[in-house]
Amino acid sequence: MIKPFEKPIYVTKPFLPPLEEFRQGLEEIWETRWLTNNGPILQRFTQELCDFFETDNICLFNNGTLALQIALQGMGISGEVITTPFTFVATTHALFWNKIRPVFVDIEPDYYTLDPEKVEAAITPWTTAILAVHVYGHPCKLNALADIARRHNLKLIYDAAHVFGVKVGNKSIADFGDLSMFSFHATKSFHSLEGGMLIFRETGLKGVFDYLKNFGFKNEFEVVMPGTNAKMNEIQALMGIQVLKYLDEIIQKRAKINDLYRHLLKEVPGIRLVPALSPTVRQNHAYMPIEVDEQEFGMSSDALYEKLKQWNVHSRRYFYPLVCDYACYRNVSVKDPLTVARRVADRLLTLPIYDSLELSEVETICEIIMSLHLENGG
Ligand SMILES: *Cc1c(COP(=O)(O)O)cnc(C)c1O
Repeated sequence: MIKPFEKPIYVTKPFLPPLEEFRQGLEEIWETRWLTNNGPILQRFTQELCDFFETDNICLFNNGTLALQIALQGMGISGEVITTPFTFVATTHALFWNKIRPVFVDIEPDYYTLDPEKVEAAITPWTTAILAVHVYGHPCKLNALADIARRHNLKLIYDAAHVFGVKVGNKSIADFGDLSMFSFHATKSFHSLEGGMLIFRETGLKGVFDYLKNFGFKNEFEVVMPGTNAKMNEIQALMGIQVLKYLDEIIQKRAKINDLYRHLLKEVPGIRLVPALSPTVRQNHAYMPIEVDEQEFGMSSDALYEKLKQWNVHSRRYFYPLVCDYACYRNVSVKDPLTVARRVADRLLTLPIYDSLELSEVETICEIIMSLHLENGG
């Protein structure tokens, strides 16, 4: 008999640096009393990220959603943008706030990213950009999307909220497309409490983004555009600097957890794992998605989600429902039948994965899943 976990196992648990390290950083802030508005720690964090990503075209924000909203505004995107319904709702909200019409098209069945063929089929004279999501940390079909964007003269924008630390060959994931938005929210594999970042190709955008995130101020007396307030503060930047130091360690631990899950779950009938990524991809293991085949496994993903809770294991149904099925987007006309996205949203569960999750806990979670299969379908 497998006993339920005494403490809840959530889908994620944020990494925190040693408290003493953080306290030392806070002392500097107490000394200078510089809390926000492009302070010294923010400048240091920005420089470290410039070194990490080997580019100066970086702008930091208080969260990823506002970063993406500002990106679309600063780039002058309008009309229609082709995007995925299989994402966190903020991807679409960023379009809405810019009065852009989202055109939802289907995803591919292996890694759940935008299907390039469906993208191409959805282009109209009003299309100005593609907004794709590297969902769960899986790189999109980079070459195919770049090719479509080039041939149709569209901007290619990536919601890169899940892919901090991912590399393709010897390139950073941020080297693809015109712009990438990263989220440093506490639940992401890299975080700064909350935070967001844009990395972009066109150097000229930097000034625009800097204005837009700071009310449009050019100097004390001049406001050059109706900006908003989306600045990252000093405590966020401090957390970011300190978590960045541990990034490799965090990713290595997540990789071990991912390996163990894959090893133990591959034998469970009705549990489908994402196919191995190309060995040229350096992954960050941001999420641990599984697809549940109700017939073969013996219960639906929803039933498994509920059952796991009885063992104090809190998986998530990311991303159910699809964004286009939320009440606020139900009036958006969707021409694509979204066959794959609907099937995946019905079957997908993301299991707990975070650096401090013990391998023995992963073993127990997998034993619970196997026992549920044996009871219900085996
Ligand atoms: C987390 C997330 C966002 C939003 O980022 P915040 O920093 O929380 O505003 C956007 N898109 C995706 C895919 C996300 O997972």
